[in-house]
Amino acid sequence: MIDDLDVRCPIPDRGAAPILPVPVEGVQAPRPRIGIFSLTSCEGCSLTILEQEDELLSLLGAIDIVDFREAKSGADGEVDIAFVDGAVSSPHDVARVRQIRKNARILVAIGACACLGGVNTLKHAQSEHDYRQFVYGDRAPQFPTGDARPLSAVVRVDYELPGCPMVGAEFLRFVRCVLSGRPFRLPNDAVCVECKRRGTLCLYEKGETCLGPVTRGGCAAICPAYGARCEGCRGLLGNEQLRIFARNCLQLHGTPLAEILDRLRLFGVFQGETLPDSQPPDGPPT
Ligand code: SF4
Ligand code: SF4
Repeated sequence: MIDDLDVRCPIPDRGAAPILPVPVEGVQAPRPRIGIFSLTSCEGCSLTILEQEDELLSLLGAIDIVDFREAKSGADGEVDIAFVDGAVSSPHDVARVRQIRKNARILVAIGACACLGGVNTLKHAQSEHDYRQFVYGDRAPQFPTGDARPLSAVVRVDYELPGCPMVGAEFLRFVRCVLSGRPFRLPNDAVCVECKRRGTLCLYEKGETCLGPVTRGGCAAICPAYGARCEGCRGLLGNEQLRIFARNCLQLHGTPLAEILDRLRLFGVFQGETLPDSQPPDGPPT
């Protein structure tokens, strides 16, 4: 039954996604116009861009940031690359992301909210009526919010930079790739690979269930490095990895599938309304 689960993975490989025209030596190309936009979110991923400081300053000679609410005033217009953080969770968000898509050659979802729905999807544990009443009370009719969705549920997304927040170094690598005409790809390794590389004691040695084996790497396994379990903010590597992981967790550690899926709700990876029984997926440990 695990193959039928409603789980979301970031777009795995966008090798065929559009890039900007490849620079020609000796030819002064116009600087790409960049817009950074926010939908329903804490805007932490946009702030991550500002935090790049020195590296960002060095990029400013090669790009034009024409719209970035966190850093400058400016009006929407056509851009070469639109970076968008936040989930789509209101009619306003739908209209806005459609307009951004229309105006952008390349649209990049940044952060767990934009890629997966993110922590906004936790409200789905209640009915729409209940969460709207809880947040807005009697004024709920003035704020037409609804369920939270990733950008890809509404518009075509060319690239995704996952994480909560997005990884700053990955953003810089993406910009450099696009500027130089090289393809950009997310890492295809699990968080465990980076965790082993930095010599962190595995949390399973302490009897904890960590989601690192099924989560896409690229964050330098930052949470286990500080003693915290990976909660899967960068999304799953894939359904097959989840199937094997769930089987191993149950048979080797006694962790039921329902517990793993419940943990995967945090960033919107699993959004099923009901959790399955704690029966093992078929087959021996792999
Ligand atoms: S602590 Fe988590 S991420 Fe690190 S090796 Fe163990 S399972 Fe993998
Ligand atoms: S270790 Fe897991 S939860 Fe922590 S930043 Fe990396 S992917 Fe996200």
